[in-house]
Amino acid sequence: MLSITPLPILSDNYAYLLRCPETGMVGIVDPAEEAPCVAAIAAAGGTLDVILLTHHHGDHIAAAEALRTTYGAKIVGAKADAYRLPALDQAVVEGDSVKLGNSIAQVIDTPGHTRGHIAYFFPKEDALICGDTLFSLGCGRFLEGNAEEMFASLAKFAALPPQTLVCCGHEYTESNARFALHADPHNAALAAFAAQVFALRAAGKPTVPSRLSDELACNPFLRAPNAATLGQLREAKNKF
Ligand SMILES: [Zn+2]
Repeated sequence: MLSITPLPILSDNYAYLLRCPETGMVGIVDPAEEAPCVAAIAAAGGTLDVILLTHHHGDHIAAAEALRTTYGAKIVGAKADAYRLPALDQAVVEGDSVKLGNSIAQVIDTPGHTRGHIAYFFPKEDALICGDTLFSLGCGRFLEGNAEEMFASLAKFAALPPQTLVCCGHEYTESNARFALHADPHNAALAAFAAQVFALRAAGKPTVPSRLSDELACNPFLRAPNAATLGQLREAKNKF
């Protein structure tokens, strides 16, 4: 089973280091800063086989080309966004599989934040790499999409096993928690979860990955009953 380690990079991004203990194969998700990724790769054995990209924003792809050059890793990303990603060694669409050692990720199409955004679900690990589509207690801004698209993307995540680990692209949880408490003030599960978040951040610790079951109980964006409500929540959060 893959080990999945969040790597804090830039000001509030997370890359993820993936390592298959049986084969020693190593992957990295959304590497946007070279030095911390190189240090994590060195600690994992010094080789890099696969680079997984969720979407084209610079704070997710900036170091991908340099890491490919250094390690000879293959870059995987959305076929739909191939024109604005580093040259893809594997261009994927929804339903495709990506192999990493003895593990396989299923590609999920998740437009909303960007048009070509994809997520990777590892069924054996119950782990979801979701980039800037879903955050702990939040969701991505609709930069190239609308509420309908984001609602459909979040619905795909909501249907995954509740024990799924949610590995998102940013440490936004504390500010998301403040908004969530404002939007859903009578949710006891949220109040308890938010208290944990504030304590973790006060101690300088990451809040990710989170559990999908917690997001389903606490995340107002994932709990929105329809696209219109989701759109209103996103608008309100933009002004909060
Ligand atoms: Zn983004």
